Amino acid sequence: MALITKAPRGTEDKLPADIYKWHTVEKITRAIAESYGCKEIRTPAFEHTELFQRGIGGTTDVVQKEMYTFDDKKGRSLTLKPEGTAGAARAAIEHGLIAAALPLKLFYFTSCFRYEAPQSGRLREHRQFGVEVYGAVKPLADAEVICLANDVFIQLGLKNVQLEINSIGCSGCRGEYKKELIDFYKQQNLCNLCSERLERNPMRLLDCKSDSCREVNKNAPVITKYLCNGCEAHFTAVKSALTALGVSFTESPRLVRGLDYYTNTVFEFKSESLGAQDTVCAGGRYDGLIAELGGTPVAGLGFGMGLERLILVMQAQGLEFEPAKSCDLYIAALDSGAEITAAKLVKELRECGFWAETDLAGRGLGAQMKYADKLGARFSMVLGSNELSNGTAIIKNMQNGEKREVGLSAEKVKLCLIEF
Ligand code: ATP
Ligand code: MG
Repeated sequence: MALITKAPRGTEDKLPADIYKWHTVEKITRAIAESYGCKEIRTPAFEHTELFQRGIGGTTDVVQKEMYTFDDKKGRSLTLKPEGTAGAARAAIEHGLIAAALPLKLFYFTSCFRYEAPQSGRLREHRQFGVEVYGAVKPLADAEVICLANDVFIQLGLKNVQLEINSIGCSGCRGEYKKELIDFYKQQNLCNLCSERLERNPMRLLDCKSDSCREVNKNAPVITKYLCNGCEAHFTAVKSALTALGVSFTESPRLVRGLDYYTNTVFEFKSESLGAQDTVCAGGRYDGLIAELGGTPVAGLGFGMGLERLILVMQAQGLEFEPAKSCDLYIAALDSGAEITAAKLVKELRECGFWAETDLAGRGLGAQMKYADKLGARFSMVLGSNELSNGTAIIKNMQNGEKREVGLSAEKVKLCLIEF
């Protein structure tokens, strides 16, 4: 029995008392994305498993260890989406969005499902705000996408968010580098997973979260000297553009991303306020992705921002969220005649955009007024037979106790709510 009243491990209810925090970050991120010309996309919660195997890559933690995969009743293998990029790319190919005007700029809010060890800031269902841009090859595009994420932190007031960037080059640059990495790692003690994927994808090891591999990685060779002229020029131009746009960053030459599809620029925004799970936003360029998924080759880039982590940082830093709307008027009704008048008034005020309430629970006056207090109602009014026969009632300002007489029409009550 206890099981059905407990959410599954690693999942989190977003309760009504806290939802204003979500509304704040959703509102700000949406407004910023739209100011950058991004259009919202919503894709299914599950996709064919192969999409993620191809799109994310078979040697990644996500695909190797973290996916919620199941067979449906017809035996098709489906997977709850562990990230937003593959689904957005699939939809863009399927609906010809990439064949239309480029660059194509998208944003989304989505749940992501990953079988991970739950802890603060690491859930099995988390939510991301994500941005995807296709068909933008210029370094300025990398800078623009990074700047968009940075604007979110600025507008929400986050302090001390560090941007780390790196270039992981193209397949051309990586050949020699991978050889050096393999030689290096062969002399180290690696975790089982890393030993197994060393030959297939040595760069993946740089992103291993195990304590021993993290230690090893501090001395791992870096890619910088292997970058080809084109990749180096691209990276230099991204950095100059960021500087010109006033976005500060540090270079982190061992930064790679956990997903296989990245090329050139990769970046992470980290916050000290988060403890071990310190990355709030991560992304980069993935020029090979669309072709990998069978679409006409076109450049891609974007990021995913973890919204639970974003809210954790805001809370840790004591930042303000837009307060939840409170009740404008509570009308207590004393008898069944007044009840209908109250219900009508409430309906008309709601039509004008006010939050008005009256009793639905069959409670006496005292209990109704207590409830009005709990709602944080700004005003209250009591309706009984006297008020109905007079056609007026007393409206009370719940903050300062001041009272005013008002005619019993929605129009008059409305004016009173605005002016009083
Ligand atoms: P991490 O290194 O922390 O595991 P990741 O590299 O797997 O993160 P991405 O796939 O890039 O993360 O996802 C983008 C963002 O989503 C992360 O930077 C983080 O803010 C958030 N995120 C990722 N996994 C989780 C999770 N399990 N719980 C909460 N937020 C997450
Ligand atoms: Mg991860």
